[in-house]
Amino acid sequence: MGKFKIAVIPGDGIGPEVTNGARKVLDRVGEAYGHTFACEEWLAGGIAIDATGEPLPPATVAGCRNSQAVLLGAVGGPQWDRLPGDRRPERALLGLRSALGLFANIRPAVLYPPLASACPLHPLIAARGIDLVFVRELTGGIYFGASGRRDGSLGPEAYDTERYSVMEVERIARTAFSLARSRKRRLTSVDKANVLESSRLWREVVIRVAAEYPDVALEHLYVDNASMQLIRRPDTFDVLVAGNLFGDILSDEAAMITGSIGMLPSASTGAPGTPGMYEPVHGSAPDLAGKDAANPLAMILSTAMMLRLSLQLDREAAAIDEAVSKVLLAGYRTSDIMDPQAGEHDLKRVGTQEMSDLVAAAI
Ligand code: NAD
Repeated sequence: MGKFKIAVIPGDGIGPEVTNGARKVLDRVGEAYGHTFACEEWLAGGIAIDATGEPLPPATVAGCRNSQAVLLGAVGGPQWDRLPGDRRPERALLGLRSALGLFANIRPAVLYPPLASACPLHPLIAARGIDLVFVRELTGGIYFGASGRRDGSLGPEAYDTERYSVMEVERIARTAFSLARSRKRRLTSVDKANVLESSRLWREVVIRVAAEYPDVALEHLYVDNASMQLIRRPDTFDVLVAGNLFGDILSDEAAMITGSIGMLPSASTGAPGTPGMYEPVHGSAPDLAGKDAANPLAMILSTAMMLRLSLQLDREAAAIDEAVSKVLLAGYRTSDIMDPQAGEHDLKRVGTQEMSDLVAAAI
C-alpha cells in the first residue's frame, strides 16, 4: 500500500478534460489496490501566461521536482499564438524537459484489435498485431548541435550538426535495454552507420552496452530500412531505440500505423530516481475544447505508463491497459475512433467523461 506524490499539469484546451478523466481512473486504481495518489495541480502553458505572465512559473518547476512523477495534459492555443517564441505556451514543455533532465522519450504504438480497421496497413499485416515501443533520445543529436548560416564555396549556405557523446548513447541505450528486458527482450537500434560517423559511434556504444543485457536480443537497422520494415513487418518489433532526429520521424510513422492520435500515450524519463513526465502525444485540440468530445484514452494510457515506469506499479498499470481493452471491446468509442463502416448499433459513441468513467469502472 503506497503513498505517491504526483504533480498534475492540466494545461490548456482539452488538457483539463482529459486530465480530469485520467484522475478518475487513478482514483479508482487507488481504491482497488489500496494506494494513495496525492495529486497537486500546477499551472503551465497558456493558462499560466494569463495568470502569471510566464508559461512555466518557478513554482511549477519546484512542484514537479518535488513529486515522483508529472502528468501533463496539453498546452497551447490560438489565443497565445501571437506571442514571441520564447513566451509561448509550448516553451513550458522544453523548460520542464530541461529542468527535470528528461533525455528519453518513450512512445508505445499499440494496435488494439477492436480498432484494427483504423490501421492504414494491409489487413493481413494489421491482423498480425502491433505492440512496439519507440525510445527516442531527446536532448542531443542534430537538434542541439552547432548550426548556422555562412558563406561556403558554392555561396551562402546553412548547416546543422549531428553530434552524440558516448555518455548520451550509453544512457539512452540502457533505458532501451531495460525496457526491452521488461517486455519481449528484443531491441532494434536504428542508425545510419553506413554513412555517418556519429552513427558509427552510436552503434559501437550500443554493442558495448548490450554486454550488460545478454538476455536481450539486439538487431541493428539503417534508418531507411527501419522505415520500410515498420510497414512490412511491424509485428516483429518490440523496442526500438534511435537518436533525436531518426526517432522523431520514425516514432510518428509507428504512431500512424496504429490509428488515432487520441490513443497515443508517451513518457519522458531521465536519470533513475528523478520524476518522469507522462503526457498524451496530441496537443490541446482547441477545436474540441469544452465540448466533452476529446478521446481521454491517450492520457489514461499515459497514466498507466507513469504507474509502470516511475512508481513500479506493474500490476496496477496492467489493470488500466486491460480496462481500456475491455471498454473498446464492448464497443464504446469517442468520435475520433468511431469506425465509419460500422453501424451505430454496433458501436456506442461516448464523450470524454463517460469514456473515462467506463475505464475506471472496468478496473
Ligand atoms: P492537436 O494534437 O491538438 O490536434 C490535431 C488534430 O487531432 C485536431 O483535429 C484535434 O481535434 C485532433 N485531436 C487531438 N487530440 C485529440 C483527442 N484526444 N481526441 C480526439 N481528437 C484529438 O494538434 P494541433 O492542432 O497542431 O495543435 C493545437 C495546439 O496544441 C497548438 O497550440 C500546439 O502548439 C499545441 N500542441 C501541444 C502539444 C503538447 O502540449 N504536448 C503537442 C502538440 C501541439
